[in-house]
Amino acid sequence: MNAPRQPGPPMWLLAEVTYRCPLHCVFCYNPVDFASHEQELSTDDWLRVLREGRELGAVQCGFSGGEPLLRDDLEILVGEARRLGYYTNLITSGVGLTEARLDAFKAAGLDHIQLSFQDSTREINDFLSHTRTFDLKQKVARMIRERGWPMVMNVVIHRLNIGQIGRIIEMADELGAEYLELANAQYYSWALLNREQLMPSREQLRAAEAVTNEWKAKLADRMRILFVVPDYHEGKPKKCMNGWGNVFLTVTPDGTALPCHTARMLPGLSFPNVADSSLRDIWYDSPGFNRYRGTGWMKQPCRDCEHKEEDLGGCRCQAYLIAGDAEAADPVCPKSPKHERVLDALAAAERPGAAQRPLIFRDPQESRRRCAEGA
Ligand code: SF4
Ligand code: SF4
Repeated sequence: MNAPRQPGPPMWLLAEVTYRCPLHCVFCYNPVDFASHEQELSTDDWLRVLREGRELGAVQCGFSGGEPLLRDDLEILVGEARRLGYYTNLITSGVGLTEARLDAFKAAGLDHIQLSFQDSTREINDFLSHTRTFDLKQKVARMIRERGWPMVMNVVIHRLNIGQIGRIIEMADELGAEYLELANAQYYSWALLNREQLMPSREQLRAAEAVTNEWKAKLADRMRILFVVPDYHEGKPKKCMNGWGNVFLTVTPDGTALPCHTARMLPGLSFPNVADSSLRDIWYDSPGFNRYRGTGWMKQPCRDCEHKEEDLGGCRCQAYLIAGDAEAADPVCPKSPKHERVLDALAAAERPGAAQRPLIFRDPQESRRRCAEGA
C-alpha cells in the first residue's frame, strides 16, 4: 500500500453539538443509533475544540445537530467562533429560533443561517417531520431576513415531495431566498431505512430537473438554485466529503472526531475523542483519519481505474452499507461487482405501488429499540 499523502489542514470544522432534535424526519442523517450516544461535550470542551480547529487552519465552522438550538450555550460558541476568525454557519430546522435568540446571534456575529424545510405544503412538511412546524418555519424565515442575513434554504428532495418542486422554489422565492439547495436524499441512516419509500423514479427525477432548470432561468437575477442529483441515479460515485480527511473535520456531540458524520459505523476503525487527543493529532496522525486518505488503500477495480483521483472510489459508508465492504468500490459505480444492488433499488422505484411500507420516523425510542436489536 502506498503511504498516504500528507494532507493539508481541514477547511471546515463541523460541530454537531447535539443529537437531540424536536423533529422526526424520515430522512434524518443522524446515525440510527444516535440514542446510544447521548453524552454531550461541555461548553468549555467546545470552546477548546473551536480554538484547536482554528489553530489547525479551519476557516469555516458549521454548528449543526440534531437541532443545535437545543444547546443554550450556542450563542457563546458562535461568539467565540467568530472572535477566533471563523466564518460561522448555523444549520437549523428553525425550531427554537426566537426573536431574542436571533438578536443574540446577531450580536455574536453569526455570519450565515441555513434553514431547512421539508416541503412547500403544511401537510407534507408536518407529516415528514412528524411535528407542526411549517408555520413556525415561515415565521422564522421572515425573522432571519428582517435582521439582514441572506436567506439560505435547504430542502431534502425525495419521492414524497419531488412532485412539488416548482412550488417549493416558488415558496423559497416568496420568502426571499437568495440560495436554495434542493438536495436529493442520500441513502444513509434513517433515509436508508426508508429508501424504498423515498427513492424517486427516473421520470420523477427528470421532470423535477426540467422544472428546476426553468426556474433557474426565471430567477437567475435573484436566487441561486442548486439541484443535487442523487448518485444512485447518476451511476457515478461522488467524491464523498471532497475526500476522506481532506476538507471536513466533524466533531460529534460526545466528542468523537470523524472524517464524515456517518463514518463511526465503519467496522474495524476507531475514531479518537477530542477529550483524549488534540485536533492536530487527530487530523494528522490518527489511524481513523488516515485510513482512507488518498488512493493507496484501494483495491480493484478502483486501483487501476482512470477515475480514481476524481472520485477517490466514492463513499466508504455506502460501500460498507451496500457491498458489506468499506474498501470496495462504491456500489453506485457500474464497475462495482455489487452494482446490481443499486440497480435493484432503482428498479423497485419504477414499479407502480412501490413504497407501500410505513415510514420509519427518526425517534429516540426507535433508535434505542434498534440498538437493542443490534440493527
Ligand atoms: S434531519 Fe430532521 S430530525 Fe434530523 S436533525 Fe435535521 S431537523 Fe432534526
Ligand atoms: S472503479 Fe472505483 S475509482 Fe473507478 S469510477 Fe468506480 S468507484 Fe471510481
